[in-house]
Amino acid sequence: MAIDPTLPYEESNIFAKILRGEIPCNKVFEDDHVLAFRDIAPQAPTHILVIPKGPYVSWDDFSARASEAEIAAFVRAVGAIAREAGLVEPGYRLLANTGGHGGQEVPHLHVHIFGGRPLGPMLAR
Ligand code: AMP
Repeated sequence: MAIDPTLPYEESNIFAKILRGEIPCNKVFEDDHVLAFRDIAPQAPTHILVIPKGPYVSWDDFSARASEAEIAAFVRAVGAIAREAGLVEPGYRLLANTGGHGGQEVPHLHVHIFGGRPLGPMLAR
């Protein structure tokens, strides 16, 4: 079920558990502010999730409350991970589902990086 991005951060969400080391992930990148790992149910040959380490529900929450350092680290990490995955030349897609209409399921901000094949239309018709 899609989540309400205006609700307070919920420490029991699955990505919070990954950040605390309570459940494993297939890590591809980590620095002081950012963790990235492979999606457990990939929808493209390359499907990576990039998350801030701080407790932010959504893009809305992150853009309003995160520090300049967190925002810079996150944006740079998304670019660096896509570059490192070899996606720049063939092209790729970023997606950040937010709230009900966005279909967000996990209430911790994440950017999906999709690549590895032509990705089709931007939205399902
Ligand atoms: P969203 O609908 O944007 O909230 O996407 C949530 C994504 O998290 C989905 O693509 C799931 O496959 C992915 N996901 C859920 N649990 C895990 C997990 N434990 N490890 C990696 N990816 C996960």
